[in-house]
Amino acid sequence: MRMDLATPRTEAGHDRHASLCVIGSGSRGNCSILRVPIPGGERLIMIDAGLSPRRSAALLEGLGLRMDQVDGVIFTHLDCDHFQPAWVQALPAHARVYVHRSHRARAEAGGLLYRRAVLFTDAVEVTLSPPEGSRDRPAFAAACVTSAHDDLGSVAFRFSFAGGGDLGYATDLGCAGDELLACLAGVSTLAIESNYCPELQRASDRPAFLKRRITGGRGHLSNHESAEAAHRIDPARRLVLLHLSEECNTPELAAAAHARMRDRGPIISRQDAPTPWISLEPAAPRPPRVRQTQGSLFDAALAR
Ligand SMILES: [Zn+2]
Repeated sequence: MRMDLATPRTEAGHDRHASLCVIGSGSRGNCSILRVPIPGGERLIMIDAGLSPRRSAALLEGLGLRMDQVDGVIFTHLDCDHFQPAWVQALPAHARVYVHRSHRARAEAGGLLYRRAVLFTDAVEVTLSPPEGSRDRPAFAAACVTSAHDDLGSVAFRFSFAGGGDLGYATDLGCAGDELLACLAGVSTLAIESNYCPELQRASDRPAFLKRRITGGRGHLSNHESAEAAHRIDPARRLVLLHLSEECNTPELAAAAHARMRDRGPIISRQDAPTPWISLEPAAPRPPRVRQTQGSLFDAALAR
């Protein structure tokens, strides 16, 4: 059963609002595309560049897009499944790279800082090419939180777009701490890793050190850790699952763990095919989650 194929190719609101397509996600390479409308057109920002430039260009072409529309790449971190060094040469000349300060040395070693680089810490402004005939450079912003992934950490983002839509993007987390949950709370669309099933991880023939690295709080989130984080973040519109392990997870297990959020997806990203375009439009206002107590029911009856 392939649940992600049941979702529509394009959601309503796609033309007026930013949208997200995860073109590939998993241990063999990660890349998502943000498609951002500007007056008279649209521009693209990549989140991570872990697929080869050739494959990414072919996938973009399949989506009716061109590499010269890419204005930049924003990196969660620089592990080889998120950054292939061939991108240093392959990006369009005008494109910027956005790198967290804690990844500076690795970025320098990988040649990334020879490009137009923007280093950031807890917030970043992402600049787009100006519309034709205009000097105004559109931009959007993100708040950032680092999490304890391996030695250098990984960056999670809360992107906010003109028109009110937003996106939480969190992968390679290790664990979902309070700072991350607070940063992403109530976001409209949440894309979060749901890496492994603990039973499949235990049963796999991976070496013990690798299992410890993945499950020890500085590697990846299990399906249930991801589901707990997603429940606490409580995205208003959509849930997208990232970075499923091919060896130690299945789309069915990940979906089952997130079953209580069935009304918001989840859309499950894949290693070998893009997701549909996911509109990042703002959600309609929701009533707050209120836990009704005996006392308040009694008070309400008295007030009638
Ligand atoms: Zn990764």
